[in-house]
Amino acid sequence: MRKTVIAGNWKMHKLLNSAGQFIDDIKSSVPSAMKTETIVCAPYLFLPLLVEKAKGTDIRIAAQNMHFEEKGAFTGEVSPGMLADIGVSHCVIGHSERREMFGETDDSVNKKTHAAFAHNILPIICVGESLEQRESGVMESHIRQQVENALSGLSDEQISKTIIAYEPIWAIGTGKTATDEEANDVCKHIRKTIAELSNQEIADQVIIQYGGSVKPDNIGDLLAKSDIDGALVGGASLEADSFVKLLEEGT
Ligand code: PEP
Repeated sequence: MRKTVIAGNWKMHKLLNSAGQFIDDIKSSVPSAMKTETIVCAPYLFLPLLVEKAKGTDIRIAAQNMHFEEKGAFTGEVSPGMLADIGVSHCVIGHSERREMFGETDDSVNKKTHAAFAHNILPIICVGESLEQRESGVMESHIRQQVENALSGLSDEQISKTIIAYEPIWAIGTGKTATDEEANDVCKHIRKTIAELSNQEIADQVIIQYGGSVKPDNIGDLLAKSDIDGALVGGASLEADSFVKLLEEGT
């Protein structure tokens, strides 16, 4: 039986005060981590405060990116060791915005995934197709390749702890959501790909989220599907009220 994992991805929004206030506002409404994992993925600058505020709660704090190197001359970058040192538990890796705008590749995603595990940070690996890829019939092969490349060289145990977020690029921030069936079909395809890479028992443990214009009024139907185990949510995770509704509808 897989847990539900609901993660809010704030992207480049909020200031320090409103970020801290958000954790205070949702604290009392967060479901037990035994059943539903609640993750807030925030800009680097807010992470120490959020980790502090989330202590003693079932809220986990994630970064939205990291470098794969331990240390060195990488001006402007943040290492996995730095994130682990302040108590960050998860990291989003390979979000489509980073792939499209910041040169993230399948190779850097794989390196970051290995580096995350080396520091006990759990990766939330984003995969997904563009509208053009979907319409030209290469969606399945594209996603298979992204998943295979991201997980290359990981142990079965590491694969079982990885979270995959299926995020069709055409549905992110556009108000267009994949139908429950469309989203579930791709999540099934991802699980099948993992079973082929590893084995069915491991694939059955992997949390696969859907992301792309998830809102309180569509999360319930998405999570009712067989292979969708959670959601990675951008816009609808920014306000505490809306995020709490997502947690309630998804639990
Ligand atoms: C995201 O940030 O990963 C995302 C899916 O955004 P939105 O929910 O706004 O589409």
